[in-house]
Amino acid sequence: MTAVAARCRSCGGASLELILSLGETPLANALLTAEQRSEPEARFPLDLVYCPDCALVQITETVPPEQLFSHYLYLSSFSDTMLQSAEEVANRLTDRRHLGPASLVVELASNDGYLLQYYKRRQVPVLGIEPAANIAKVAEEKGIPTLVRFFGEDVARELRDQGKTADVIHANNVLAHVADLNGFVAGIALLLKDQGVAVIEVPHVKALVEHLEFDTIYHEHLCYYSLTALQPLFQRHGLTIVDVERLPIHGGSLRFYASKSGTASEAVTRLKAEETEAGIASFEFYRDFGQKVAGLRERLRTLLQSLKKEKKRIAAYGASAKGSTLLNYFGIDGETLDFVVDRSTVKQGLYTPGTHLQILPPEALVERRPDYVLLLSWNFADEILAQQAAYRKQGGRFIVPIPDVKVV
Ligand SMILES: [Zn+2]
Repeated sequence: MTAVAARCRSCGGASLELILSLGETPLANALLTAEQRSEPEARFPLDLVYCPDCALVQITETVPPEQLFSHYLYLSSFSDTMLQSAEEVANRLTDRRHLGPASLVVELASNDGYLLQYYKRRQVPVLGIEPAANIAKVAEEKGIPTLVRFFGEDVARELRDQGKTADVIHANNVLAHVADLNGFVAGIALLLKDQGVAVIEVPHVKALVEHLEFDTIYHEHLCYYSLTALQPLFQRHGLTIVDVERLPIHGGSLRFYASKSGTASEAVTRLKAEETEAGIASFEFYRDFGQKVAGLRERLRTLLQSLKKEKKRIAAYGASAKGSTLLNYFGIDGETLDFVVDRSTVKQGLYTPGTHLQILPPEALVERRPDYVLLLSWNFADEILAQQAAYRKQGGRFIVPIPDVKVV
């Protein structure tokens, strides 16, 4: 057990323990232009630690958000799975909470309006808060009013002073990105009506550890949550976690509901018991995570090396941050992989951080016919395998790297 000189982002505890060091890596979303390939890339330490005082798993390094998000090219709308999930939850909340023209739904890190558009369709007023100006502009063009700001206590207070409080606040996959965690949750409490509800999605650290999803670890993700760690964080700001759902998205996520009154549902009690039984609040649960990841690296590298010996041509699918963590930590680069494909048109023509693989459209798989494709976006495996039916019909095969190496 190695002690770390840093403070817990939630409780301020000073006894952080090292789980896994991924070394110094480039920013996972910092895709490069052809010219930038010859310039030095900024690298930052990536150390995963555990707080024994509140059970929060986190990384120690905070890269300034301006530096992280200037590279932010990810648009949620590009994933069918996420859109379906967004539409379903918007309809359900509109019905159950009887939302109408006098209500307000706010989304924090609202992206291009992929979620709020479904409330707007139901005539419910919406407000997006999104720090990336280029993405906020896309939302505005779709008719989603969007504030270009990083959300925190100050923004919440300004909105409250303008008489704007929310019936529903959504925060999907943003809580992991927040450096001032207590300011963010305090802001939610300020912005929320007394009877309102905050609906928050986070990847579940239990799934991360049990399924070896180490590629979720990158500088944008400062924290990795369990219900056990979330409860004291929200309680501190007068919010109770009243309900929770498990979602398969991103390899296993939690969608939890926080409000100013009410008591924990049976689902909350059940998940808390499950986490306690697994040992979430003990360092033992995380102790052999690093060794297991090293074993996975060995198995994947061995497979790729033997395929290269047979003169097989290998590409990759998914120029995502996940993919960047995996390739950089496993040391898989242009010697093994010919190129990477991605559906996002804004990424095509650029190069992957650290490993400098060219990013091409998915059609390149059918055109160039690599023998194997390393599926870096394994969290969307079903969707991608279905989309790539033509390539697979030609005899192309996918290598799924996580939770264990599998050829399909
Ligand atoms: Zn803590």
